[in-house]
Amino acid sequence: MSDDAHDRPPRGLQTRLVEQGRTQSYPGGRPVNAPLVRASTVLFRDTQEQAQMRERRGGERLFTYGARGTPTAFALEDMVSELEGAYRTRLFPSGLAAVGMTLLAYLKPGDGVLMADCVYEPARQLADSFLKPYGIECTFFAADGSDIESRWKPNTRMVYAECPGSLVYEMCDLPRLARLAHERGALLAADNTWGSGVLYRPLALGADISIIAATKYLSGHSDVMMGTVATTRDAWQPLQDRADAFGMTVSPDDAWLVLRGIRTLAARLEMHERHALKVAQWLQARPEVARVFCPALPGDPGHALWRRDCGGTNGLLSFEFQPGTSQADANRFIDALRLFGLGASWGGYESLVTAANMARTRSVADWRGRGPVVRLHIGLEEPAELIEDLAAALDSLARRPGP
Ligand SMILES: *Cc1c(COP(=O)(O)O)cnc(C)c1O
Repeated sequence: MSDDAHDRPPRGLQTRLVEQGRTQSYPGGRPVNAPLVRASTVLFRDTQEQAQMRERRGGERLFTYGARGTPTAFALEDMVSELEGAYRTRLFPSGLAAVGMTLLAYLKPGDGVLMADCVYEPARQLADSFLKPYGIECTFFAADGSDIESRWKPNTRMVYAECPGSLVYEMCDLPRLARLAHERGALLAADNTWGSGVLYRPLALGADISIIAATKYLSGHSDVMMGTVATTRDAWQPLQDRADAFGMTVSPDDAWLVLRGIRTLAARLEMHERHALKVAQWLQARPEVARVFCPALPGDPGHALWRRDCGGTNGLLSFEFQPGTSQADANRFIDALRLFGLGASWGGYESLVTAANMARTRSVADWRGRGPVVRLHIGLEEPAELIEDLAAALDSLARRPGP
């Protein structure tokens, strides 16, 4: 069987998730999985080879020093490039590190970035605590992109989007943002953690840069931190140069774990979707619930764009209690759950719950007067049992002890 990508027809996603990044043969045969290669020092034959490798490694991906990646990391980079439809991918020690390095690679003091109102909250904090004091102007635009033209500034060099948005999954018209950015000489970067290269593909929709917190669905087992940045050929070099300058690297053990997780990515996502849709429909019928947030639901404001641009949905589901519900009641609901773990992050095989503070995480959208929002990650457990757990926790609110 040939491993040469050039002489075979393009494969479907599920085949690529199995086939990519497994090339290693030994005398006798080859294992199914790529070997785990740990290295700091890489040895060269002679001074001439060492000099040649040093000269070429800025432009080419070569195994020349552990910090620039090992064959294990390269196998994962290639897998993510396949998923994202990218020229190349770089790995970072966390999703947030990937976000920060992306901003630093393409922006310098004096430049401006337009950031979507719905970005992952620590990205917003990074803008406030670092970009602004560093001289990079950061302006937030509506999550659906509707006001972006009026927010444009002469120094805008990047549009930074996240679609669907964190916590309540607002959709935006990414091809439109790409057109606007490119007409004005700016780059479009998108956080693609929700889509994970399977459900949503920003580069195919016109973005230059796509970021994934591999901590979530790519790793899939709540035991690894990692971020990936995948770019087009034109956008690649600044990212590569900046990541090398800052010594950004990942442990090969972690790269190996993420590669292992990705093998089952499509299978897991299908199950997360099926379970989440069952829970969503059930929640929509509960009187305590004002709204369920999920763009796959007909009636969601982002549903038409979701149908156009997304290949499915995942296990993420948030809902808003009826206005007038107190945060204390929302917390009592959370504390009453038995099958949902309480904690940050998501994308593992297990169900999670956390309170979402919408007033703190949005500055353009006005969330005053709304009910408390709770984010669920629906895992691979029996959906009927998850629903039973949610029902018991909601029912317990009615049995509130008197004031
Ligand atoms: C979790 C997350 C990140 C950050 O990933 P970490 O690996 O936790 O640093 C970035 N963007 C989004 C949308 C996320 O959900």
